Amino acid sequence: MNHDAFRSIPPVNTITELISDQFGSAITNEVAGSLAKCVQDQVRQELQSGLQDDPGLLVTRRLKQLAQTLASPRLGRVLNGTGIVVHTNLGRAPVSERTSHAMSTAASSSVALEIDPVSGRRGGRMDEISTLLSILTGAEQSLVVNNNAAAVLLALTALAQGKKVAVSRSEAVEIGGGFRIPDVLAQSGATLVEVGSTNRTYARDFARAASDGAELFLKVHPSNFSIQGFVASPTLAELRDVAVSTGAILIEDLGSGTFVDTEAYGIDHEPTVRESIVAGADVVTFSGDKLLGGPQAGIICGKGRLIDEIAAHPLARAVRADKTSMAGVAETLRHYLRGDHETSIPVWMCIAASESSLRLRAGCIAATLDSGENTVDVATSVNYVGGGSLPGQSLTGHAVRLKASTSGEATELARSLRQATPVPVFGRIEENAVLVELRTIIPRDDELLTESMRNVLASLPD
Ligand SMILES: *Cc1c(COP(=O)(O)O)cnc(C)c1O
Repeated sequence: MNHDAFRSIPPVNTITELISDQFGSAITNEVAGSLAKCVQDQVRQELQSGLQDDPGLLVTRRLKQLAQTLASPRLGRVLNGTGIVVHTNLGRAPVSERTSHAMSTAASSSVALEIDPVSGRRGGRMDEISTLLSILTGAEQSLVVNNNAAAVLLALTALAQGKKVAVSRSEAVEIGGGFRIPDVLAQSGATLVEVGSTNRTYARDFARAASDGAELFLKVHPSNFSIQGFVASPTLAELRDVAVSTGAILIEDLGSGTFVDTEAYGIDHEPTVRESIVAGADVVTFSGDKLLGGPQAGIICGKGRLIDEIAAHPLARAVRADKTSMAGVAETLRHYLRGDHETSIPVWMCIAASESSLRLRAGCIAATLDSGENTVDVATSVNYVGGGSLPGQSLTGHAVRLKASTSGEATELARSLRQATPVPVFGRIEENAVLVELRTIIPRDDELLTESMRNVLASLPD
């Protein structure tokens, strides 16, 4: 160990001064002091682990990293140029302007969350959303929780604890992020009874499970995978008939849960929430921030008696939604009541964007950026809805393509775009080029996008 190096670690008060100089009023003297101790400790550890650098330099490097963290909030705005509409790693659905406004108002003020404005008496937290959802889906009652994973866990814990739950073998799936139906069932205290085979399951398999003691049937949207070929699965209506005749409760986890007919956009039919309720599901769960296009939330709709039972479970309090997301869900639902989702909710604006409009926008941006060296052009591409909805389904897209000479150069270019100003842009790499997909960018952001791309291109070495 190099003792000289240790002796030349700057003292805490020197580091504190450096920090105060660098960050000014962004942090208090007290924070600067404790930060200085941390930095000194980290540098000492680095030297202990064998690093040979100059201790003063190590301090400067640490402070530079800190400055970056403090200067650019990680959750600041970025543009989604990936061509995946509901992109989990980019925060899923951006909400509509009206929804964003409603959420911001609810966040910064008091709201009549649990008081009935007319009587002044305590009112139900879910009254408004429940009414909106009843109109839209025909469900008797609804409950909003933190996310759909919580919705499924809560519904099963409240209704299935200690009971047998029948699930088709093809639907005992993993959604991603550690959410696996068999594990969720185990966590809820239920016993999974797998029925049918991997590719073919029939209503009679559920009838047999019921006669063997299954008291619930769980139907799960397979989300991010599809099976093809020699396959069969019972419709929800068939399952309902078996459930009614055996006294079982029928729960459907819809995953995305759309309110819109997806076939109108040239993609396969995605079951709507209303269809599930009409077909006779007792309880339906879905996400707020996938195809609904609202804030993160999990929505549970269904029979009043069962929703009451779910809402009364102690876990309901642990996973309940806050006023901000509830205001956001309510405002998002109003778009579907008015039928203006296609012009207001970003997810549907993106899905509904016509190929010709995308080609036109890509062409305009490419023409603005091209400096005559033929490094920018328009590429026809493949886009996806994402978010575990409509697996295997794609939409034609048009992208602005920034060409590079090697794949390493393309990687560098993509990195620069992700750090671009005024707004970082997340594109995708295809061969030796970066594609920025127009489908997943709202037209009003085209100018910002152009500016960010222009700044990146201007900073490239000749
Ligand atoms: C996405 C999904 C979930 C989890 O929903 P979150 O809102 O991410 O918690 C559960 N089930 C299915 C079928 C899904 O597609």
